[in-house]
Amino acid sequence: MIEGDTFQRFLLEELNIRGEWVRLSDSFQQATQIVDYPESLKSLLGQAVAASVLLTGTLKFDGRLSIHARGEGPVSLLMAEATNRRTFRGLVNWEGEIAQDAPLTEQLGNAQLAITIDPDKGARYQGVVPLERETLGECLAHYFELSEQLDTFLMLEANESGCFGLMLQKLPDYKTIEDQDAWNRIVQFAKTLKIDEFMETDNETLLLRLFHEEQVLSFEQEPVKFECSCSRERTLTSIESLGQEEALEILENSATIAVDCQFCRQHYEFDRSDVVELFQLGTSH
Ligand SMILES: [Zn+2]
Repeated sequence: MIEGDTFQRFLLEELNIRGEWVRLSDSFQQATQIVDYPESLKSLLGQAVAASVLLTGTLKFDGRLSIHARGEGPVSLLMAEATNRRTFRGLVNWEGEIAQDAPLTEQLGNAQLAITIDPDKGARYQGVVPLERETLGECLAHYFELSEQLDTFLMLEANESGCFGLMLQKLPDYKTIEDQDAWNRIVQFAKTLKIDEFMETDNETLLLRLFHEEQVLSFEQEPVKFECSCSRERTLTSIESLGQEEALEILENSATIAVDCQFCRQHYEFDRSDVVELFQLGTSH
């Protein structure tokens, strides 16, 4: 049976290669139904959210990780965010027509890909890589090469039923194994799989199909869900960034300031007393 919307880690024990995969169907539909995305952008968003869940799997603490790109092409913003509790959200902002098979560099134009790690406790960390490879998976593999010197392979796919991500990564002690061709062999195997196979086959069968000659240790499947982290308090900070003067100016023509969350369409409204309180509290700190 296929477990829908799950994340799972596995380990190719004798090869010192670790793996993770994520398959999202219902939760991905939920996350994308609020915007009428062209197919190519729904696919791009699927790849990005799958990647954010995979990358969060590498965190060793509680917190969130986001993948974020601002472009000068038709796509002005691509963002996906996931937490170690296996929740995710994401969005794409764009203008005009997007060609169906346009490569990433054309969709976003001149852009950088930022990976931000935000622990619940401790300092935020951000790594940036130029967005100059053809796919998001290749750009993120490039990021791992530069930031952690770890060979990483990412396969990110999406179709109308959902999205899928596979990540393979050499462990630091890979170099101690005798079979130094193992990495290339494993990656070649992974590349033979097609998105439909990923979406329609359960993990145990997939592991057997891919790595039947290897000793695989698979961990428990973890449920993943779409969940937005927006709140009234957080939305207030966006009003804070407008500045007191502009906020009060808006309230001269309207009884409230209305803000819709871009990720989940939750609607928030703030009236004059909210705004006055916000800036009084803000200045007293
Ligand atoms: Zn929201």
